[in-house]
Amino acid sequence: MLRLDQIHPLISGNKWFKLRGYLELATSLRKSTIVTFGGAYSNHLHAVAAACKLLGVRCAGVVRGERPSMLSPTLVDAAAMGMDLFFVSRKDYTEKKLPEMLLQQHPEHLLIPEGGYGPEGIAGAATMLAGVNLPMYSHIITACGTGTTLAGLVLGTTEKQRVTGISVLRNHLSLSDEVDRLLPDRRRGCFEIINGYHQGGYARHTPDLLRFMNEWYRDTGIATDFVYTGKMMFAVSDLAAHSFFAPGSHVLLIHTGGLQGNRSLPNGSLIFQ
Ligand SMILES: *Cc1c(COP(=O)(O)O)cnc(C)c1O
Repeated sequence: MLRLDQIHPLISGNKWFKLRGYLELATSLRKSTIVTFGGAYSNHLHAVAAACKLLGVRCAGVVRGERPSMLSPTLVDAAAMGMDLFFVSRKDYTEKKLPEMLLQQHPEHLLIPEGGYGPEGIAGAATMLAGVNLPMYSHIITACGTGTTLAGLVLGTTEKQRVTGISVLRNHLSLSDEVDRLLPDRRRGCFEIINGYHQGGYARHTPDLLRFMNEWYRDTGIATDFVYTGKMMFAVSDLAAHSFFAPGSHVLLIHTGGLQGNRSLPNGSLIFQ
């Protein structure tokens, strides 16, 4: 398992890698503020706030939904790290409309698409495998949301590796096309996406999933998050039980981080919370 959850106490996992290209772009374009989008428990918002604090860059986050009377722990962290929060209606959020106030306060900004999807995101994600002895592995597996991380892995590997994404979304069947769109011709289609392990949909969970995550923690000491890595491990364990991996396979699992998001679960749901 590639433990990207352990690279830094605050900027966890794949989000850092997806961000690096955008942060370099902001510097070269002399943009004074990074602006991006996310929900109340977004790993992406959390990582952007942490990275900008470390680098001394201003940042603003557009958050889906009205401002709640009590901010989520994720948003409390983001605000404490200096992120300016702007709450917008679900409709404006879907349309990716930036609030007037934000435009006035941060006219010179660089916009990072939700989840870091885009060419800068994938180029950064491809560097996740630096330091991995790639020829050792027959399979590489990651959870996927936007598919940017998966696309980066496809860029960073060769035809010797089977690259698999476990989708955490329900009925998002255009995901393969969206991943292909990020890839150069020669690497299109060099991956597979497995649907059916979403456990009810994005950020949904089932008692089976939480039970699995607790058992897996007990067996390995590795904590997972219920939105992404828990579903990936659940899928890998189920696939292994159904002979998905031929004998002699060497499987590299990507721990993409995201543990901060477990704070949205009721206390006591996880033994490692
Ligand atoms: C965002 C995220 C992913 C999904 O990454 P995509 O590049 O959007 O597919 C996977 N795991 C964790 C922990 C994440 O926060």
